[in-house]
Amino acid sequence: MPGMFIIETPVALRSQPASSTSSPRSTPNGKDASLYQFFAPGGVLAHTHPAYEFRRGQLQMAQAVEQALEEKRHLIVEAGTGTGKTLAYLMPVIRSGKRVIISTGTKNLQEQLFYKDIPFLEQALFGAASGEAETSRPRLSVCYMKGRNNYLCRKKLYDLTGQPVLSGLDEIEQYRAIAAWEKTTATGDRAELAELPETSALWHKLDARTEACIGQKCSEYERCFITEMRRRGMESDIIIVNHHLFFADLAIKLQAEGAPDAGILPEAAAVIFDEAHELEDVAGNYFGISVSNLRVEDLARDVEASLQHNKMMSASLSGALGSLRERSQFFFSLLPPGEGRFAFETRREFLEENGDEFLALNQALTRVAGELEGLPQKPQEIFNFVRRAQELQVQLGFAMESDDRNTVFWIERRGGRANSPRRHGGTEKTGRQNVFLQATPIDVGPILRECLWAKLECAVLTSATLAVGGGFEYIRQRLGLEHARESVLPSHFDYENQALFYVPPDLPDARTPQFVALAVERIRKLLEITRGRAFVLFTSYAQMNDVYQRLLGELKFPLLKQGDAPEATLLEEFRLRPKAVLFATPSF
Ligand code: SF4
Repeated sequence: MPGMFIIETPVALRSQPASSTSSPRSTPNGKDASLYQFFAPGGVLAHTHPAYEFRRGQLQMAQAVEQALEEKRHLIVEAGTGTGKTLAYLMPVIRSGKRVIISTGTKNLQEQLFYKDIPFLEQALFGAASGEAETSRPRLSVCYMKGRNNYLCRKKLYDLTGQPVLSGLDEIEQYRAIAAWEKTTATGDRAELAELPETSALWHKLDARTEACIGQKCSEYERCFITEMRRRGMESDIIIVNHHLFFADLAIKLQAEGAPDAGILPEAAAVIFDEAHELEDVAGNYFGISVSNLRVEDLARDVEASLQHNKMMSASLSGALGSLRERSQFFFSLLPPGEGRFAFETRREFLEENGDEFLALNQALTRVAGELEGLPQKPQEIFNFVRRAQELQVQLGFAMESDDRNTVFWIERRGGRANSPRRHGGTEKTGRQNVFLQATPIDVGPILRECLWAKLECAVLTSATLAVGGGFEYIRQRLGLEHARESVLPSHFDYENQALFYVPPDLPDARTPQFVALAVERIRKLLEITRGRAFVLFTSYAQMNDVYQRLLGELKFPLLKQGDAPEATLLEEFRLRPKAVLFATPSF
């Protein structure tokens, strides 16, 4: 359902690096200034950026973060929209000289930090204001990391060469583009490949996700983009990640019990969690379990590609893989019907009725693992496939049979993976639905208390929405964060006079079939009032696509949709086309 409808408004402070201006004699050089001298009216920031407005809350937040870093204490700070949170924590982080990880809720904020806020601060702190000549040497050592699935796995790409597993002309074209790019890219980050559709099925076969990686035993380990990213992290003072990457990394390290190549994030003196209201949900995902037909299919496909590449495919293994695919599709198709996400409260009854199919899938996993284990002189990746098959079996067992009281069991259905082209470089989806069996801890507090807060010297949690009833009791309890300083800073904006909050009182429940048609009409009216210039947010991809399709051709404004092009490209288009309307979900 539409979760938010935001009318685009001009932003008061743009974080583009400003042209260098000389500081007055009374203002110290940026790097020598106190926080007050930096943020205060007439201070370094005011001289660096002509549109800068002093915000008391920003200075207060910077001072609170500096104190937390110095005293090695945790801090929770709620700062309303418009406070300028990013500069408020970046300044004390830079001044501390410590290695700090900054974790955000979204890729967009990561990009804002890396491409705008940090260059801006570099300019303010070390720029021509000091009178020193500019050098090409970067003065802040900063690295920006995304989830592993954003990076290319060189080994998979090389293994795929000459393999008959590409489906269709699009995949062949995409493969050629990726193979040419691999020779020149320094990062392996798919964002550099603007023409690659976000939903490319081929990319999914080539990305560097953890489960298919054999780490130090890989022949490409030294040239691997992930190894390179790990190295860059070790050499950086500030590492920018998102919550998904942070918790995936933490979960991997916990699982690997300190193995040297486990995880990619280095030790840090502090972690700043921006958009910290999302921590509980994200952490729950990574300390929980997710088993799906897609995961089984990924395993079967990886095994098949490896066996073909190594010329080890046999009739018996081919049969084992065929049976695994068949049994998986059948088992997941039997799960209770329903759209989106819903509780799986009838696991016992389901197993009573479908116990044979559950057992059959288990046996198919055992058979594949056994056949692979029995291969003579097997390459390293085969051991990895055995581990993946066994892990799937254990997790499937937990998701179906566990009665752990701290876990909620649920099902999620998502549309099939996209694989054929559409306008704007987007793709159509395949008919097949992916079904996820999820088991998520109800209370992540105890896990975080033990594995995160107790081990970190300093954590800063910030967001515009953290306090409940003016206090942090609720969030502290949900996140297991017992000892932390607290601060609530008011918003800089005059919401009462400058914003309009509208809740349509007459629309039916978003789950009813009539909802979309009525919501479309309302959205159309709102867009006509605002003359486009809007960001329309949905909580489900299905509804976003549905509403977008219905409005396409009905409105005279350019309509942009998440998934049709990389997010940075869409945002750029949104900025450049004055009446554009952007349809997206919270993951945007
Ligand atoms: S180390 Fe892992 S991610 Fe890197 S190339 Fe090898 S298999 Fe791929």
